Amino acid sequence: RIVYCNGAYLPEAEATISVFDRGFLFADAVYEVVSVLGGKLVDFSGHMARLRRSLSELDLPSPGSDDELLAIHRELVQRNGLDEGLVYLQSTRGAADRDFLFPPKETPAGLVLFTQAKALRQTEAAERGLSVITVPDLRWARRDIKTVQLLYPSMAKMQAKAAGAQDAWMVGEDGLVTEGTSNNAHIVTADGALVTRALSHSILHGITRASVLRLASEMGLSIEERSFTPDEAKAASEAFITSASSFVTAIVSIDGVAIGKGTPGETAKRLRDIYIAEAERTAI
Ligand code: PMP
Repeated sequence: RIVYCNGAYLPEAEATISVFDRGFLFADAVYEVVSVLGGKLVDFSGHMARLRRSLSELDLPSPGSDDELLAIHRELVQRNGLDEGLVYLQSTRGAADRDFLFPPKETPAGLVLFTQAKALRQTEAAERGLSVITVPDLRWARRDIKTVQLLYPSMAKMQAKAAGAQDAWMVGEDGLVTEGTSNNAHIVTADGALVTRALSHSILHGITRASVLRLASEMGLSIEERSFTPDEAKAASEAFITSASSFVTAIVSIDGVAIGKGTPGETAKRLRDIYIAEAERTAI
């Protein structure tokens, strides 16, 4: 696999990062994951807009213009012959002698991109739906910034695996679901309304979430942007997640409680189909 590392396209075994890179020492870095369908990038401008916001909230240097980043994404997809999968981008505050204080503004940003070949359209998860457990949300309070501080979500996913589930939905101190470890959480009520937590500092502003909400409202679904408890989710007609890597994927059980019939719900399946069709049509 060819990866992009601080200005160069290199075989992955030859790409190296400084020991002093602040992404490595302080998780002083943000990232994006863009899905690729038919060799084209899905929701690219949305991901770049969120990257700009993450950079600016942390006063991180820009790793390049949107056009430059688009060119790197395309070059990597092409060099790796990627048809379906993901492009991961990470931008760091660069390398500087270890100090909690930020280095001078002129320190060049660190920039790494790599591709991952992965089936996204036809997956067992989409076919069967996923089981989740609920865990306390122990992350920091600025989850709207897409930083690489992913240790807690990683631990939560290990806990889910140990419990025989595939993922975890995190629950805040207020008893309300925030989101999945790497996805936004949604439910469908008995009267067919899509309920999803409103945007705030508590959750990542999902690019797939935004597209799916737009498509859902075009479909005539009523949308309630409000928080919900694990108990409301367990009693809901349907539950599902959204993310660049899972698109729309049904949740069929929460803490061992079957959701609806315990199989992927009709709304989730329709939204998945519509999202994929739209993604294929608009990918660049
Ligand atoms: N929430 C979290 C915590 C995430 O890590 C992700 C995926 N990176 C999402 C939500 C979904 O965001 P997106 O639809 O932009 O992939």
